[in-house]
Amino acid sequence: MLKIKNINTYYGQVHALKNVSLHLLEGEIVTLIGANGAGKTTLLNSLSGIVPSKSGEIIFAGVPISSLAPSRIVKLGISQVPEGRQVFKPLSVEDNLELGAYLHYRTAAGRAEVKKTGDMVYALFPILWERRKQLAGTLSGGEQQMLSIGRALMAKPKLLLLDEPSMGLAPMITQEIFKVIESLSQEKKTTVLLVEQNARAALKMANRGYVLETGKMILEGAAAELLENNDVQRAYLGKDKKEIWER
Ligand code: ATP
Repeated sequence: MLKIKNINTYYGQVHALKNVSLHLLEGEIVTLIGANGAGKTTLLNSLSGIVPSKSGEIIFAGVPISSLAPSRIVKLGISQVPEGRQVFKPLSVEDNLELGAYLHYRTAAGRAEVKKTGDMVYALFPILWERRKQLAGTLSGGEQQMLSIGRALMAKPKLLLLDEPSMGLAPMITQEIFKVIESLSQEKKTTVLLVEQNARAALKMANRGYVLETGKMILEGAAAELLENNDVQRAYLGKDKKEIWER
């Protein structure tokens, strides 16, 4: 479904991604782990066109996308759930969701589908239905995360990019969100690229994983293998981290 080949991305002089390659098969959950500043968000932003790569190739469903505008990339079927949720705080829950579907308002058939997609999102996150008239800025952190995921789903993506969905959330809410991510992959066949600081939980859910270190992809493999890998255990699943994550 997706092939990233040797991309290089810069912020001015900062070489944030160095010859990074990655691929995704349809329906997979793939997680990207790495320390702070490793380049995980940059990789998602290069994929979605927000921070375009300077060289290398990104092919999505056979189409080269590395020089396309973000809106074209959304239209092709890639939606991003940004780090820190970034919901439109002064707007209601339902208006946030409708904005996620803006591309589908251009045709009558698309408009007819929006309601169905909204129903699907409300079924995944019933609390959003209860809160649909409420301003997004007044939701709890977990509810805002659900809204951010719901908004991305309104575009009907084939590939969902999730940037640190568990950040700042209580373990129970994180579990609830992870269950939904799993069901999106299993039931709706949505492909998921998941950036997570909670590496253990992410690897438990994922089919495969990649490890990014200071802009370079240093390791890839089946999630179960990475969980057992000594270097991964030491750097990302260390005892101290294990205790924090499993609290
Ligand atoms: P975190 O887990 O802290 O979010 P990350 O792995 O997502 O980290 P990125 O945010 O992609 O890392 O950052 C990769 C590198 O690019 C870092 O060295 C960072 O300082 C740098 N960087 C990120 N955004 C910018 C920017 N807007 N301008 C300049 N440098 C940036």
